[in-house]
Amino acid sequence: MDDTTPKNIILIGFSTTGKSQVGRRLAERLGRGFVDTDEAIEVRARMTIPQIFTEQGEPRFRQWESQVLAEVCQGRGQVIATGGGVVKERAHRELMRRRGMVVLLEATSETIKQRHQADEVVRPLLEGKDLAEIAAFKDSRQPLYEAAAHWIVPTDDLSLDEVVDEVMAAWEQWRDGVAAEVRTPTARYPIYIGWGTLSYLADYLLKVGLPRVVHIVSDETVFARYGAWIERLLRLTSFQVDSQRIPPGEASKTLEQAACIYDRLVERRVERGQPILALGGGVVGDLGGFVAATYLRGLPLVHLPTTLLAMVDASIGGKVAVNHPQGKNLIGAFYQPRLVVADVSTLRTLDRRELVSGWAEVIKHAITFDEDYLVFLEEHAADLLALDEELTTEAIRRSAAIKARVVSADEREETGPRSILNFGHTIGHAIEAATGYGSFLHGEAVAVGLMGATRLSQLMGLVGPEVVERLGQLLARFGLPTSSAGLDLEALLAAMELDKKVREQTVRWVLLDGIGKTVIRPDVPPELVLQVLAELGAA
Ligand code: NAD
Repeated sequence: MDDTTPKNIILIGFSTTGKSQVGRRLAERLGRGFVDTDEAIEVRARMTIPQIFTEQGEPRFRQWESQVLAEVCQGRGQVIATGGGVVKERAHRELMRRRGMVVLLEATSETIKQRHQADEVVRPLLEGKDLAEIAAFKDSRQPLYEAAAHWIVPTDDLSLDEVVDEVMAAWEQWRDGVAAEVRTPTARYPIYIGWGTLSYLADYLLKVGLPRVVHIVSDETVFARYGAWIERLLRLTSFQVDSQRIPPGEASKTLEQAACIYDRLVERRVERGQPILALGGGVVGDLGGFVAATYLRGLPLVHLPTTLLAMVDASIGGKVAVNHPQGKNLIGAFYQPRLVVADVSTLRTLDRRELVSGWAEVIKHAITFDEDYLVFLEEHAADLLALDEELTTEAIRRSAAIKARVVSADEREETGPRSILNFGHTIGHAIEAATGYGSFLHGEAVAVGLMGATRLSQLMGLVGPEVVERLGQLLARFGLPTSSAGLDLEALLAAMELDKKVREQTVRWVLLDGIGKTVIRPDVPPELVLQVLAELGAA
């Protein structure tokens, strides 16, 4: 762990999720100090929390809370349990994120109600509430908890000790450089993100139980920069390494190219259990992943993303595919990797335009899920573009955590959350298709699409003009386009009909319902779509 790593473990969560009990037990097991901010407030105020609420009111309680939090966060190496409402203040959320690993103890509204009824504790904000009221209250707080949390531990079916085990495991992973973990019904895997993480690749491979025989798939450009070094690193720790290069670019995402890789795997007599390491951008990840999903009915897959787009998006979530002459990604599968290792320092060699393009997906994550993160991007745009080590790593970790959370909730884009990631993509994909995938990079088309979807949200009465303006300014600061003169309206409309969000002839639009909040709307009038496309530059 380096000196910049914050060392407190800070537990947040709704009432009854067990923060105090878990915190106390965790502190014992780790041999650390423990602070419960509610207890500290009671000592300070010489009153119980319910007394403070009834005699002095919630605002006074929040003042106490701010003071106490500021004090306890000064320390390092403690376990800190917080009150349920601590996340209401942005300053609290940011302070906690800076000073520790923030773990959200999660529980469903049903569990919260049951636990509240079962114990004797008076909780001023839960008293007299029925299940629907608790659910509504929790929903209103949930985005704030998620914005503050580095890690989420569901507690519903777990005993106290099991929750403590989970938090301890999370802490160990976090200390090791894991930014997030994907947990789906079919898989569970860590995402390591840091500056220089590839130096530890051998350790990470062994930690997830992979054998010492690996096959690197990369493209010529990326391999020329990093391939030989990684081969040497792995061989130093007794790995057997074979490598294969494909020509760089989208044109390589084909069945023919997959067949070349299969030929090599056959020739090398690759056995089940030996992993494919996909070293490169989204093209290598999708193609290498497709081969891993299909060869011998599945080889373990490890993503080593080297573009911003691949770090925050393509390497997380298990979509693997090759293109068909009739369409992008038509032949593919859901196939989750065993491990993702993103070395942020590799972005230093990435072409500037590719790098800028990647920020569009990051901005999408922020505007659809997390206003704190949007503020972070606004405050640090220049440093991020200059690839400041600490800030860029923080941004990529935040984005990866958002993507991991969404994929964990909806692995196959079935229940809804994953479709939120399509925000801006209805128009973005249409622009790419209408221009023959030639003139726009994916992120550039998505940037114009984000503007379109946000303006459409305004025309539907969901957000005010200030949101559209704010997004436009942020995209411009990252050097991304917000419109594009000369788009062919007919071609865009034709492409949108074919877009994958079409269900039963209606386009299901992902729209903003405020910053950090989205809705799916199948009822957007075509004339509004035409108006927005015209504003974006289509004729
Ligand atoms: P890419 O893989 O083509 O990489 C872009 C270019 O940068 C290539 O020329 C590559 O050689 C070069 N490059 C990569 N890393 C480099 C580095 N560190 N230094 C120097 N050069 C480097 O493009 P991309 O934007 O990463 O990925 C686009 C692909 O990702 C598309 O095919 C898209 O369909 C796919 N994608 C997949 C998912 C998913 O969920 N599976 C999500 C989004 C996009």
